[in-house]
Amino acid sequence: MSENKPIVKLIAKPENLLKTIYTACRTCYSADSPINIYDSTDDKEKMLKLINRVISSGHYSTIEHIQVSFAISNVSRACTHQLVRHRHMSFSQKSQRYVKEKGQFDYIIPPTIEKNPELKAKFEEFMNEISNKYLEFTEAGIPAEDARFVLPNAAASSIVASLNLREMIHLANLRLCTRAQYEIRMMTKAMCDALIAEEPWLKDYLVPKCVRLGYCDEDKSCGRMPKKETFLGVEAAV
Ligand SMILES: Cc1cc2nc3c(=O)[nH]c(=O)nc-3n(C[C@H](O)[C@H](O)[C@H](O)COP(=O)(O)OP(=O)(O)OC[C@H]3O[C@@H](n4cnc5c(N)ncnc54)[C@H](O)[C@@H]3O)c2cc1C
Repeated sequence: MSENKPIVKLIAKPENLLKTIYTACRTCYSADSPINIYDSTDDKEKMLKLINRVISSGHYSTIEHIQVSFAISNVSRACTHQLVRHRHMSFSQKSQRYVKEKGQFDYIIPPTIEKNPELKAKFEEFMNEISNKYLEFTEAGIPAEDARFVLPNAAASSIVASLNLREMIHLANLRLCTRAQYEIRMMTKAMCDALIAEEPWLKDYLVPKCVRLGYCDEDKSCGRMPKKETFLGVEAAV
């Protein structure tokens, strides 16, 4: 059984991230060529001033030039199934067709079950049963791609995920929200933390959507921010 925590590592990020975004931003407003703009400065503060202004005004094409990649493991199939719904991301996931389980498959236990000893024991017993059934089928010659039909959402998976900075902000806005499922929220938080560790200026953007909007647009609010109708007035919210 796996420990109940996504394992996330930032494995790729452009060296010249700030300069690339700065060049994209300045090119829009300058008579100078992008090459000259790129070569003109290494002044981080100056670059960030322009970049923050441009992103805050919603000019997002400028951050689409930055691609980052994460190696992610110890997450459930339930979690990765949600992640792969994001259409501007690229994925390579551990295959249940090509990787045959040899013994008890790894699985994730949700914290609500983990903290209840009686239910946890039942959960583990059931995972054992599934594992036995899976092995019975594969040993009888059923190919892994068919035997996997008995595997649960809890089965642990590994995935490499790549996305541009615009999509990263979108992912954070949606999946850091307390309305998002706990595991994808933990995983997204780990992705954001890994990127912010290298690019601290991004902490203002890699936030739940309510922080960005100033209000909550969810039906059920956690209360962190005022509800949309309170913030904008009832008529503006409909
Ligand atoms: C709290 C929560 C609950 C959810 N519950 C459910 C659920 O019950 N059932 C379910 O099926 N899904 C559910 N989802 C998934 C959700 O519907 C989205 O599929 C997922 O969040 C990806 O979001 P997205 O489409 O904005 O992002 P992406 O696919 O990453 O796209 C980013 C943005 O690009 C634009 N875009 C992308 N593709 C298109 C397109 N084809 N046409 C127009 N614009 C496009 C949109 O502006 C979009 O916001 C849930 C998500 C969350 C966060």
